[in-house]
Amino acid sequence: MDIRIEKVAPGNLKAKPDESALGFGRHRTDHMFVMTYDEGQGWHDAAIMPYQDFALDPAAMVLHYGQAIFEGLKAYRGKDDAIFLFRPMDNLRRMSLSAERMCMPRIPEQEVCEALKTLVNIEQEWVPRAQGATLYIRPTMIATEAGLGVRPAKRYLFFIILSPVGAYYPEGFNPVSIFVTDTHVRAVPGGVGNAKTAGNYAASIRAAVEAQRQGYTQVLWLDAVHRKYVEEVGTMNIFFVLDNEVITPPLSGSILAGITRDSVLQLVRDWGRTVAERPIAIDEILTASQTGRLQEVFGTGTAAVISPVGSLYYQGQSCEVNHGRTGPLSQRLFDELQGIQYGRQPDPHNWIVRL
Ligand SMILES: *Cc1c(COP(=O)(O)O)cnc(C)c1O
Repeated sequence: MDIRIEKVAPGNLKAKPDESALGFGRHRTDHMFVMTYDEGQGWHDAAIMPYQDFALDPAAMVLHYGQAIFEGLKAYRGKDDAIFLFRPMDNLRRMSLSAERMCMPRIPEQEVCEALKTLVNIEQEWVPRAQGATLYIRPTMIATEAGLGVRPAKRYLFFIILSPVGAYYPEGFNPVSIFVTDTHVRAVPGGVGNAKTAGNYAASIRAAVEAQRQGYTQVLWLDAVHRKYVEEVGTMNIFFVLDNEVITPPLSGSILAGITRDSVLQLVRDWGRTVAERPIAIDEILTASQTGRLQEVFGTGTAAVISPVGSLYYQGQSCEVNHGRTGPLSQRLFDELQGIQYGRQPDPHNWIVRL
């Protein structure tokens, strides 16, 4: 793939934000990667160019029928100024799977990975040095063909934008309180729950707002058919430690196959722990909590890595997990994954890619 590179003149570069107050997604860097797909022609006109607005026809199909998919990964700055990516090819392969589900074109994963590395390299001064801060990477694809019929578009735009983000836990772990919803569902069997497609997030906002209004940080989703089996928490996969066994719901088609989830499963198996990928009912969790057998609950995802759950609220009942404190497995997984991501620790599974 030939990439045209057009750089911002040195005098026009943006001022770098204060690294101690980055927040999430508030700042964008100086450049972005774009390429266009046309049916019959494939991907073409790959370019790294100054970050700028797009011009879209008001009839662009993404605006009406929602053919939009995305990914999220990070660049980490290790010691000696080295920059690392964590399992980038897994994100790009997953993006192609999301594309297939949404009748969008696959991306050339290997070439996009090279383009991504080139972009991050150009923007390396944007990879934060502050403890725990990272450069968030957002590959996205949208249908840009103008037309008002419901069918797969013939034209797409793929782009990668970058955003320096602050540490998720600036003051150390803060276990979250979770609202278990039995009124809203995230995904249904046969639907698009296992694709990282924009509509899933639009559909999830209402439950999140209702939970937050009642003082909870996140929503725990139950399966859509029985409203009984646990699926995910917010936009994270979920794990339980029950009687020393590590349990997570199986990839049934309605949950997103998280790369952090997969990494956690591998680490926990490396450590010789018993792991089960099986359906787990919310009643089983509550009973285990009442009988003192529920040891830990945590979410997994790129943004937070590990998000310990301190309490669950379901149908008028509240249950505390590990006295509202971070459990030992949550802490060990967080430390281990961060150690690998920042290049401080051995990486036996070859997860990191050095720029
Ligand atoms: C992105 C995402 C996750 C986490 O995936 P990671 O690859 O671990 O970042 C989990 N659930 C949903 C719904 C997601 O969108």
